[in-house]
Amino acid sequence: MSRILIIGAGGVGTVVAYKVAQNHEVFGEIMLASRTKSKCDAIADAIGTQYGNKKIQTAQVDADVVADLVSLFNSFKPELVINVALPYQDLTIMDACLEAGVNYLDTANYEPKEEAKFEYKWQWAYQDRFKEAGLTAILGCGFDPGVTSIFTAYAAKHYFSEMHYLDIVDCNAGDHGKAFATNFNPEINIREVTQPGKYWENGQWVMTQPHEIHKPLNYPNIGPKESYVIYHEELESLVKNFPTLKRARFWMTFGQEYLTHLRVIQNIGMARIDPIIYNGVEIVPIQFLKAVLPDPGDLGENYTGETSIGCRIKGIDKEGKELTYYVYNNCLHQDAFKETGTQGVSYTTGVPAMIGAMMFMKGIWRKPGVYNVEEFNPDPFMEQLNKQGLPWHEVINQDLEL
Ligand code: NDP
Repeated sequence: MSRILIIGAGGVGTVVAYKVAQNHEVFGEIMLASRTKSKCDAIADAIGTQYGNKKIQTAQVDADVVADLVSLFNSFKPELVINVALPYQDLTIMDACLEAGVNYLDTANYEPKEEAKFEYKWQWAYQDRFKEAGLTAILGCGFDPGVTSIFTAYAAKHYFSEMHYLDIVDCNAGDHGKAFATNFNPEINIREVTQPGKYWENGQWVMTQPHEIHKPLNYPNIGPKESYVIYHEELESLVKNFPTLKRARFWMTFGQEYLTHLRVIQNIGMARIDPIIYNGVEIVPIQFLKAVLPDPGDLGENYTGETSIGCRIKGIDKEGKELTYYVYNNCLHQDAFKETGTQGVSYTTGVPAMIGAMMFMKGIWRKPGVYNVEEFNPDPFMEQLNKQGLPWHEVINQDLEL
């Protein structure tokens, strides 16, 4: 029977564990491992013996240490590792996969701790080694990156002969009732949204100040929300894999209250990622801040409202006519909580990670090497989105506002 290992027991890891257990006939034996074993145990206990008559196995592992990972891999012998720890661990986990002969899937590209820089180059550099080892690495299989990339691949396959303009639009119209909280790991989230903006136009990257470009966009079932151009990692692989794109941008909604808090956090130095000495101890301000902010995994209980994430694409259809296409999913925070005890952002990330793993386990997404999700067949994945809690909708030839 096949075996699957999930690394990371945060909000996303919780959802992956629930969804893998729900689909246990595809996955066989399941193990959840993370830095803090008690968190894995709590998740396994909450899920109980939902799958077969078995409980999820748990283990402690420091995913920064390749040797520890290799010994865990060699004892559990997983066929695939789902990495939902932090982006800092991507390379050590990939190294361990190569050493122990295990396939790999993640939801966020590697970034070095000392620099907020999102680039695929470090992971793409593993291409030959994974190929030679006959192992598959699936990169960026959350919602964005992940579903947004698959939406784009689906549009290219079924609707367009040439895609010219791609705008990924990400709205969280939820309310968690806290003055300030992030929806996923605060350190990763704040590093992402405070960096300069960047988008693709006419064959090159255009840089902007953080949050410089913004406008209200209308989201289905939600209405208008101020949306900001920020850099997001899937743009890098999408412009490479779909070279007809003349422009590719990523828009995210932020409330005024969130932006004000963010500005203060930056102005007072709490977003710093370099270590400082405090009372003789070295601390990294943003890591200290994470320790005092609400845990994203605990936001679910009072979270109301919904997320809406999709792709708005303009180009030429298969018959040579102009076409606009919008494909999106809306996800209610309350529904996510009811099913998995987590909020919508963890849910919309964890469900696609499970589906990607399912695609691998079924042999549909299996090719030696390192690939971004848009390089695989989108159709069976799109079909599963509808079955696994993230249904999608299409709007054809309407004003995209962009
Ligand atoms: P959390 O911070 O809630 O969880 C991260 C988990 O990883 C924690 O359990 C943590 O352990 C564990 N961890 C951290 N370092 C190590 C280590 N060295 N060894 C073992 N375990 C470790 O994050 P989220 O669940 O919110 O996010 C998980 C991932 O999902 C991130 O990479 C994030 O970037 C990505 N993501 C992707 C999205 C997408 O759409 N593609 C959207 C949202 C998130 P401990 O509990 O001890 O701290």
